[in-house]
Amino acid sequence: MNIAFIAHDNKKNDLVQFTTAYKELFKGHTLFSTGTTGIKIMEATGLSIHRFQSGPLGGDQQIGALIAENKMDLVLFFKDPLTAQPHEPDISALIRLCDVYNIPLATNMATAEILLKGLNRGDLQWREIVRGESETDDE
Ligand code: PGA
Repeated sequence: MNIAFIAHDNKKNDLVQFTTAYKELFKGHTLFSTGTTGIKIMEATGLSIHRFQSGPLGGDQQIGALIAENKMDLVLFFKDPLTAQPHEPDISALIRLCDVYNIPLATNMATAEILLKGLNRGDLQWREIVRGESETDDE
């Protein structure tokens, strides 16, 4: 599965702890992130992550582009609801695209836990079918 990580500054430690806890599970997947989030996770866990730009510099939009191509299977986006973000439109656009393409999205750790449990027991296998169909459509 293709999994994207994004965390706002006040939530980066939470995401680092979360990815540390589920490191063995994440190892078996293809990982993507915004710039700074990715550095912090890689430093803490040793996981290999394809990093895009930092969120405020376009990273959210780059991840959004993969969603629009139906290539992202799960998005873990630890949002900070108490701090204004300069790239609020990009954040809204990313969440909107997850809804457009029916992509599982967690915006807090409690939901992320549940999605990870689902991922672990194969509940997201349908994504491989959907992704396969969209790849056939592209041909
Ligand atoms: P960052 O971006 O991982 O580069 O900090 C996340 C964000 O703030 O959207």
